[in-house]
Amino acid sequence: MNTIIKAGSDQNWKKNNMVIACNFNMNCNFKCSYCFNQNTRKNFNEQLSPKALHNLFSNLPLLKKDFYSFAIAGGEPSLYEYFPDMLKYINEFFSPENYTVFMATNGSLLHRLEDYLKEYPELNVHLAISMHLEQMDAETYLKKFSQFKFPNMCRIKLMLKPGTLAQANDIIEKAKSFGYADFIIQPIIINSNVHPDYTDEEKLFFAHNPYPSNTALFNEYLNNGQTVKKDFTKEEFVLNPELVNYSGLQCLAGHSSMRVFADGSIAPCHFHKRAPDFNLNMHSLLEYIYIYQPITCTSTYCGCHGFTAIPKWNPEYAEGPSYLKKEQISSR
Ligand code: SF4
Ligand code: SF4
Repeated sequence: MNTIIKAGSDQNWKKNNMVIACNFNMNCNFKCSYCFNQNTRKNFNEQLSPKALHNLFSNLPLLKKDFYSFAIAGGEPSLYEYFPDMLKYINEFFSPENYTVFMATNGSLLHRLEDYLKEYPELNVHLAISMHLEQMDAETYLKKFSQFKFPNMCRIKLMLKPGTLAQANDIIEKAKSFGYADFIIQPIIINSNVHPDYTDEEKLFFAHNPYPSNTALFNEYLNNGQTVKKDFTKEEFVLNPELVNYSGLQCLAGHSSMRVFADGSIAPCHFHKRAPDFNLNMHSLLEYIYIYQPITCTSTYCGCHGFTAIPKWNPEYAEGPSYLKKEQISSR
């Protein structure tokens, strides 16, 4: 039987990187029928407070990570009241070579983002614009794209509805003429299978996807005493959840990742509970227990590529990354 002994991404095994997934606000000006944040939104009426925001950004550099990847989502992040402060803190506490910010926006308020971002042209910020065509039509999207001044910082994402490949290609061609160059067209997945109503042409399109993700992940298995390494991409694990079942393994989620909620609470990842006695409004980030130690995964699914890329290992057969050992030795 195959036993997973190591997993993650090569990059994260070599370097002490950190992923910070942020939901500083949950409010949104769209009401998508498929929004998976609808339930979460009911639990978070408030936005992350200025105190908690400063606590987070001023203390993260003290962890001395090699690289920080911020993934900022919402709700709609441009509606976050303290968005300008967030940019100010990124500028103040981080140097451009050791962080990147990916911000997920629905694209309806690009003018507002442009106003904020033009104050900080040197920031390493990328926008992932998800097109929600049931909420805003393609023509309005294209008009906003044509007016936005920073197309080179954007990736345009579209979840393809069956039968709409021609429309998607048309959107891409027009967006390219405005200076956009980065696109992702994703299939709708139902129970680990692509939507059954895609046309043959659309199935062929996904088979030779011209806009693939460059996520490089691996699992190392023990198979009859031999180690076997399997590389895979985000697209592959979406179709085969068994690839990302790390239940019982040691994982650096918490040490190398955190999910920050609007009320100031923190969880190590999407599938691990929030720390019960910790809140950024009351405690310094440096008191957050998980940033100092590996945790044991209790989930049978780890399906979010930023977290899947974090080092995980089976302590019976493998050790954690060498930077963890060095940290533990120097803190003795
Ligand atoms: S834009 Fe995103 S957050 Fe807003 S309703 Fe749609 S799916 Fe939900
Ligand atoms: S679900 Fe969380 S704890 Fe489990 S392997 Fe994934 S990132 Fe680690």
